[in-house]
Order: sequence, then structure tokens, then C-alpha cells
Amino acid sequence: MSSSQQKPIALLSVYDKTGLLPFAQSLTKLGFRLLGSGGTAKMIREAGMEIEDVSSITKAPEMLGGRVKTLHPAVHGGILSREIESDLADLAANSIEPITIVACNLYPFVLTINAPNCTIAGAIEEIDIGGVTLLRAAAKNHGRVSIVSAPADYETIIAELQKDGKVSESTRKGLALKAFESTAEYDSAISDYFRKQYATLGGEASSSAGVQRMQLRYGANPHQAPAQAFVTEGELPIKVLSGSPGYINYLDALNSYALVKELSAATSNPILPAAASFKHVSPAGAALGLPLSEIEAKVFGVEDLFAKDALSPLANAYARARGADRMSSFGDFIGLSHIVDVPTAKIINREVSDGVIAPGYEPEALEILQKKKGGKYCVLQIDPTYVPSEIETRQVYGISLQQRRNDIQIDESLFKNIVTEKKELTTQAKLDLLVATIALKYTQSNSVCYALNGTVIGLGAGQQSRIHCTRLAGEKADNWWLRHHDRVLNLPFKQGTKRADKANAIDLFVTGTAFNSSPSEHDQWASLFTEVPTPLTAEERSEHMAKLTGVSCGSDAFFPFPDNVHRLKRSGVSFIGAPGGSIMDKECIKVADEYGMVFAHTGLRLFHH
Ligand code: 5GP
Repeated sequence: MSSSQQKPIALLSVYDKTGLLPFAQSLTKLGFRLLGSGGTAKMIREAGMEIEDVSSITKAPEMLGGRVKTLHPAVHGGILSREIESDLADLAANSIEPITIVACNLYPFVLTINAPNCTIAGAIEEIDIGGVTLLRAAAKNHGRVSIVSAPADYETIIAELQKDGKVSESTRKGLALKAFESTAEYDSAISDYFRKQYATLGGEASSSAGVQRMQLRYGANPHQAPAQAFVTEGELPIKVLSGSPGYINYLDALNSYALVKELSAATSNPILPAAASFKHVSPAGAALGLPLSEIEAKVFGVEDLFAKDALSPLANAYARARGADRMSSFGDFIGLSHIVDVPTAKIINREVSDGVIAPGYEPEALEILQKKKGGKYCVLQIDPTYVPSEIETRQVYGISLQQRRNDIQIDESLFKNIVTEKKELTTQAKLDLLVATIALKYTQSNSVCYALNGTVIGLGAGQQSRIHCTRLAGEKADNWWLRHHDRVLNLPFKQGTKRADKANAIDLFVTGTAFNSSPSEHDQWASLFTEVPTPLTAEERSEHMAKLTGVSCGSDAFFPFPDNVHRLKRSGVSFIGAPGGSIMDKECIKVADEYGMVFAHTGLRLFHH
């Protein structure tokens, strides 16, 4: 062996040559034999230092215009060999020497694709092959090899070598992790680029079958372009049957379908279909397909279909979900658990709505929906067998956040731990607590939900204070109930008043706003009636409100103060399902006992963001 062959070997192959010369100089001083790929070796040699070309060990020239530089057993055998007998024997048999340090950073793929005139051919040339292999091989063998993937680490390595004559195990581990992160990031930039170039675009109905990626017009706001929806493996479980879904449509569609699938699956004997009406990633309404009474049909705005016996269980579910808080549901995205039938499509067709997601559509129902909004109505079909991965990741302000998906099963057993004197949950209450709790699981926190007859009747979402959620949801429940008042059911609207105008006018009436507003707003409101209604009196209100009982209420976290329980009472709540765990639990339970409520501590927090 010549003296040069006994020296430890450092292989240098870097695109970014920052700090390369001082690093090479220090390695030489420390007794390393330097090997370099073309440009790297040239720069070091021109600075007057000694370095061999990689070809001196591969005995093969760089070829294919640089596509093959370091891809050779002499290099990778030298990097990957362990200090074990069989590996050392292999090295000896093939005259390969072990490599101790590898410094490598990659062709600038991201910079290239971000350049204005980048072509696919140009991008392809910037895909580093041998460098990634060097990084992975050296990182894999970090038990013996140091892989330096960032110029910023040159000084640390040199300092350790100068001090101890070797790179410590913990530094090698840290360097290996860094190298793996850099190849992962590099590969995901490449796959993202090619997904955009090659994965079938599916943002439009015409080309949506079996695609991995859908181009979206923009993100949450028009200035947030580009935007896309994609899966990294396989195909999207969603087909666009009509329209062109946007970013927020996706957020609503995916959350609403998850809600209705889970809600329907939580029912048995019989299994009931479920519907949700989403706005801004929270349900404005959610319900099971229980039959409607005549009054409910009127309150939910489907009395004409009810009279003709033209409602199906799924139509009942959507009528309930859509009709409970008609103002919030205006322009909704709809989630349906079952194949969409004609009665459901007919209700959807006459409402102002952005889109619908369901596992399928009867042909005639699809025909109705595909014509809505001049063909622009968004109709999505989701594969009902699709199971999302257990771990979900998203980025906020450039930082990746990862968690297990909230896949907790919610069923009646959640409400077994009754902490009040009164212990009996009625069958109806169990169903309503399920509806409220599953709705909360998909509502932006903090959230509180009131439910009755399988229907969300008041939902307070996204409030920072729990009592504000409780009040907001309670006011919605109160308004919903006041809409059952005879005087509201018989408001003398002029013929031809639009559905949305009626909903707004009813809201102004039941909240009393119509009578406290400016003359012009009052006149506008009054112009919708053949005879201007007088306000509901305080007596009429309290007499009617007293009839609201048996309501169930869920909360996505514990009630911190008993004021919440007092507020629930005012909206007819008799049953509560909430986690418990507050230092004020005792006080909350005491108030629930005063009112004769049944309170189940679920022990389950359901924050959703
Ligand atoms: P140099 O400037 O030394 O000619 O090239 C350094 C670059 O080549 C580094 O970015 C390194 O990742 C890359 N590289 C090293 N070996 C190979 C190879 O075999 N094929 C390709 N395509 N790139 C390589």
C-alpha cells in the first residue's frame, strides 16, 4: 500500500461550493486523502490543493454529461461498508477502500423550477441522482461515516476532528438525520413538481375520474394562488360530477362528509341517513333522517313537499339540517351520508347552496343537481369505503404539525357516567346527545350544541369563551323554537316572497330586531307582508319558551362555570353530555340538579381546529 492509500478518505461532491476551500484545506491538514467529482475537484485543484478525481478510484470517466459521476461500486462500496469481516473481505477482494467523510449537497432543483422559463426538460436535468445516493448511503452508514450535507457544518466537523481525531457518534447521528431530511425534502419537491405536470388535472367535472391531484382556482382567498388538492399515493377518493370545487369547498366537503358518515353509522335499528349543512368549516345544521311533523315541515321550509308526501328519509335529514338555522345555512356546502335521491335533490335545487358531497346519486337526482346554477353547482362523489390515514399533517406558518386523526368512536356508551341525581336518559335524549356530540367533533372550537329530535337546533362555533358559545347556541335554539309559534307559522307574507327573504324576515321578527331597527330597515321588512305583524309580546314569548323542554346539549370541553348550566335551562335543556374535569364541576352539577337535568360526564374533549 502506498502512503496515500492508508489515509482516511473524504469524498467531496458539492453543488453549493460555499466554504469548500477552507474545508478541503483543513481536511488535507488533518491527513485526509481527498476525492472529488468534476467541478468540485477542479475548484480545489485550482486553489493549489491536492485532490483526486473520483474516476481515479472508479476507473471510469464521468459520463452522460454529468448524469453519471459517482454512481459506482468503488464509491458506494467504500461508503456503505461496515467494519465487519465479510464487508472488509468484500472491499479487499474488489480493491475498494473505505470512505470516512462524505460532503455533498444537491443540484438546485427548486431554484430551477421556480425560474420563469423553466421547461420540463430543464427541470429533469436538475434532478440530482448520484448526490442523493451519496447522501442516503453515507447517512445509512452513519455508524462509521460522517455525512456533511450543509456547508454550515464544515466548521463543527473540523473542530471535532482537530480535538478528538474523529467525529463523535452523536454528531454523526445528527448529520445523518439532516441528510435524510434533505433528501426527503428534495424528493417531495420533485414529486410535487411532477404531480403538477403529469398527475391528471381533475378540477373540472369533465376530467375528474381517478386522479391524484386537482388544481384549485385559488386557496382561501383569490390572491392565494396556486392551490391544489392531492394525495401522495393512489387516487383522490373524490370525483367531481359537476362544477369546480374551491379550497374552502374542499374543507367543508371533507368535514361534512366525515360528520354525516359517522353520524349515520352511530345509529342502529333502524340505521338513519344523516345530512349536514356546512358554512366556513363548521356545521350550520346537522340532522338524522327522522320523519317530520307537519309543524316541523313548516318550520324547516318543506311544507309543500310534506303535503305531497314527497319526502324520503334522506330528504328529511337535509330538510332538518338546512332548515334549523336557515340564515347560517344560506350558501352552504352539503354533506349527505347516503345515495342522493330525487326528493333530496329537489330540496337542494331550490336553496341557495354551493355544493354537495355524497357517496352517490340516483341518475335523475344527479340530472337535477347538474343543472343547478347553470351547471356550475358543485357535485362531488366520495368513495364511501375510503379510510383516511391515521396520522394527519398540516403546515402553519411554515411549520409542520402532525397528530393522530380524531378517529375516536362515539356511541351511546359515552353517556353512561351520569353525575346528577336524576339518572335516566331517554332513548330520544341518547340519540340527540349523539347528534350534538358528533356535530361538535367537526365544529371549530370552542363549541356548544343543542339538539332535539335528531336535529341540531343551535350551535355556537369558534368562540373563545365557553359561555359565549353557550349563549350563541342558546339564542339560535330559542329563535328556532320561536319559529314554531303560531304567529310565526302564519306570518302573512305576500305571494312570491323569496325563500331567503322570508328566512331573514322571520329572523328579524323572532329576535325583535324588526321593531328596533331604523325606519328604512323596518319599512323594507314590513313591505314583505300583506298586513304588518305586531311584535311578539313578552308574555307570548315566555309562554311559548316554557313549552320547550327535553333538549339535549353537548359541549366540546368542560363547562368552567355554572353560568353555562343556568343558560341551558332557559332553552329547555334537560340532558347534558360534556367532558367534566373543571374545578367548578360540583357547582355545575348542583345547578343541573336544581333544574332536574340529567348530566353525563363523557370524559371526552373534542376540540377541532
Ligand atoms: P461537481 O460540481 O463536482 O461536478 O458536481 C457536484 C454535484 O454533482 C453535487 O450536487 C452532487 O450531488 C452531484 N452528483 C454527484 N454524483 C452524481 C452522479 O453520479 N449523478 C448526478 N446526476 N449527480 C451527481
